[in-house]
Amino acid sequence: MIRSVIVCLLALLSIPSNASAQSCVGNPVAVQVLGSGARANDRASSSYLLWIDAQARILVDIGGGAFLRFGQAQAKHNDLSLVAISHLHPDHVSDLPALLWLTHQDQARKAPLPIVGPSGNDVAPSFPTFLSRLFDEKTGAFQVLGPTLGATPPKRGGGVRLDVGVVDVTKAEPSIVFDRQGLTVTALGIPHGDLPTLAYRVQTRDVSVVFSSDQTGTTPRCVEFGEGANVLVMHLAIGAGATSGLQAAPAVVGRVAQEAGVGRLIVSHIDLFDLDAAIAELKKFYTGPLTVGADLQCTSVR
Ligand SMILES: [Zn+2]
Repeated sequence: MIRSVIVCLLALLSIPSNASAQSCVGNPVAVQVLGSGARANDRASSSYLLWIDAQARILVDIGGGAFLRFGQAQAKHNDLSLVAISHLHPDHVSDLPALLWLTHQDQARKAPLPIVGPSGNDVAPSFPTFLSRLFDEKTGAFQVLGPTLGATPPKRGGGVRLDVGVVDVTKAEPSIVFDRQGLTVTALGIPHGDLPTLAYRVQTRDVSVVFSSDQTGTTPRCVEFGEGANVLVMHLAIGAGATSGLQAAPAVVGRVAQEAGVGRLIVSHIDLFDLDAAIAELKKFYTGPLTVGADLQCTSVR
């Protein structure tokens, strides 16, 4: 009796909250939410995978908890074509050292891993400076990860070698950040308070997916960049009736998706607010297919 109770408790503990553990393998193109949360600790923070056939090819953001979800999704470092970072808030990037902390004995990845992030300003360093502050072999916080930026690997540790790119968030037009292996990825600066932030659009085969990240949704560019996407992932970060200088209200999320004419809207980055009320407000402005994000949830892109 006691043993069976313990087994049941262990089984319950092994099920991650808000994690539906769906597999994306078997879809031609699919979006998997690795982290559907922000600061609430019952979801991993922001992170997404774009799957093509049986490979996770693009990772967008890697907030706290997302590295565990990356493993649970059975994604592989070797399959990644690009890591795209939207901005440098912890809920979007804090698991990056964990992702890269692989030893040479792991044989996880020998080819450089393309990674791209935003330019800097007074309130945030540029992405290359951010990486140097983390991983520089002499001055970084994680000196042992110096080889990620080209230092000669020590006998132990080392990390995944990075091929670093940066996008000027002040550019008016989208920048191409990756264009090979059947994938075209563009990035565009979007309004998220003072913090340099990028939205990403992926085109592959005959479908497109837009990852809008945190933004106020207050410029026409937000709609234009998402125009006609098969799937738009947008952040529902504040509740109904709330206002923020950083995040779009539910009504704005709905309006952007509606005006962009997307095939499906996935809302994510869900925090401590009344989700039902926020969805109800969003639906007053958006009438198309809607998915409410959950960790490890997979959505086929058609
Ligand atoms: Zn965020």
